[in-house]
Amino acid sequence: MDEHSREMISELKAYLEYLKGMGIVSLPISENIAEEAIRSETLTLAEVREELGDCKRCKLHRTRRTIVFGEGNEKATLMFIGEGPGYDEDVQGRPFVGKAGQLLTKIIQSIDLSREEVYIANIVKCRPPQNRNPEPDEIESCHPFLMEQIDSIQPKIICALGTFSAQTLLKTDAKITALRGKLYDLKGIKVIPTYHPAFLLRNPERKREVWEDMKKIAEWLNNNNKTEEME
Ligand code: SF4
Repeated sequence: MDEHSREMISELKAYLEYLKGMGIVSLPISENIAEEAIRSETLTLAEVREELGDCKRCKLHRTRRTIVFGEGNEKATLMFIGEGPGYDEDVQGRPFVGKAGQLLTKIIQSIDLSREEVYIANIVKCRPPQNRNPEPDEIESCHPFLMEQIDSIQPKIICALGTFSAQTLLKTDAKITALRGKLYDLKGIKVIPTYHPAFLLRNPERKREVWEDMKKIAEWLNNNNKTEEME
């Protein structure tokens, strides 16, 4: 827990003591608000993983082998968010380790970064059977944990890989073809959608567009770092 959160909790405790002194011993607070308050606290990635536990919050738990939580630099500037684990990821418990993962590694290296320097996660943490698309209720169940990971890592920029990632993060129904290559905002963090590496394996002619999107990310990171150095 950071210093600011500790201060807030200590002030809250003092205020509750004051109310107690006035004879007020309970507050009308709904369960939802209480849950939100707990969620609004920034957790470490280890705490998010612990909270997730042996998750059975959606039906994907029935067919998964492993929960694929995510991996990489816990303080990454750049985060990649894909759709969900596939066969290899489900077996190994790591994101993007199959053929699409190898392509993602090359995409990351194209802007002179390594997998260890970025953080990689998915919209859902359990493999959808037969690699089908994740369903809305599954995305909804898993989303709070992804948001907690984002809150914990505090990346400056997120690359949303593919339709489900871009649509979920940006809360839109727009198609990836319309969304890709543009910068959006998610709670002060930049989001740039691009095609999913698995789509690129099936449509290699679209790789050029992804390289262009990656150049934009590199440019943004470069400009942003320069601004920070001047401050
Ligand atoms: S996909 Fe997410 S919410 Fe569903 S069981 Fe797996 S970890 Fe839990």
